[in-house]
Amino acid sequence: MNWLTNFVRPKIQALVGKETPDSLWEKCPSCEQMIFHRELEAAQRVCPHCGHHMRLRALARLTLLFDDGDYQRIELPEPTVDPLKFRDRRRYTERLKEAQQASGEKDATIVAHGKIGGAPAVIVVLDFSFMGGSMGMAVGDALIAAARLAVLQDAPMIAIPSSGGARMQEGILSLMQLPRTVIAVDEVKEAGLPYIVVLADPTTGGVSASFAMLGDVAIAEPGALIGFAGARVIEETIREALPEGFQRAEYLLEHGMVDMVTHRHALRETLIRLLALLRDKRPAAEIVPLPGTSMGVGDSSTSGGASKGAQNDKEKAEQKEPEKPDEGDDPDR
Ligand SMILES: [Zn+2]
Repeated sequence: MNWLTNFVRPKIQALVGKETPDSLWEKCPSCEQMIFHRELEAAQRVCPHCGHHMRLRALARLTLLFDDGDYQRIELPEPTVDPLKFRDRRRYTERLKEAQQASGEKDATIVAHGKIGGAPAVIVVLDFSFMGGSMGMAVGDALIAAARLAVLQDAPMIAIPSSGGARMQEGILSLMQLPRTVIAVDEVKEAGLPYIVVLADPTTGGVSASFAMLGDVAIAEPGALIGFAGARVIEETIREALPEGFQRAEYLLEHGMVDMVTHRHALRETLIRLLALLRDKRPAAEIVPLPGTSMGVGDSSTSGGASKGAQNDKEKAEQKEPEKPDEGDDPDR
């Protein structure tokens, strides 16, 4: 920070217009290549050079997943502001106000409904840019609202967490959101509706210890950090070096904590396929009798203790010579 950046740069920016090299180019945090801003947005913020998945804002996620990017948001309950009158270096109310002004949202969660693959669905998404996507009472409220909406609409619920954990400024009240969100998920499951979680970078702390890990299907974005405590804390506790890629989506897939790691470009198609499979109550194909079993159904009891192979052979023989009686003349014996 000096005279050049504070004074000269804004003046130049005002002269040449809004678009300066800073806003036109973005550096990939993984491969450090410079990416043209518009190119990056078109690629859904996936680095075209190394495939690194950058964080995505909540609204962009909704546009990405719903059919034609078309959805309706629902009004969420007015958040209770600063119940503990919390203050660290700054007041909680100040931090909250700042996040609200920067995002235009009241809190870190957005609940929307629309269609995915032609079928209704409810999505609840956390925005990491709003106070680290931390879970306070408002996020708990949003999860409950989303669950009840899903039940009301007989629609599956999809949660997309991206959060540092519980909101410490709300103390015990934020911890109470853990059981609260679990109950919300239970309401969806009790109604026999699918609950799918898309774990985005990062999903940690209290969020990973509650609704984020309860999906019927757990999908993770490539490279996403997913875990409860930070790697450094774990290392200091167990006094052991942690393996390469610890707490990353691919590591969790290898160890059975998530069901699939899905590229962002394939996410919508994957969800459509999953929902179709989970919601389709009809059998996958027309039911036809297995070949060789249609004729011998009534006779199967007569074969007594004969092995299955022998039984099948017998039935084949019967098919060839249906007029023969079924006792004592098995040609294979
Ligand atoms: Zn990259």
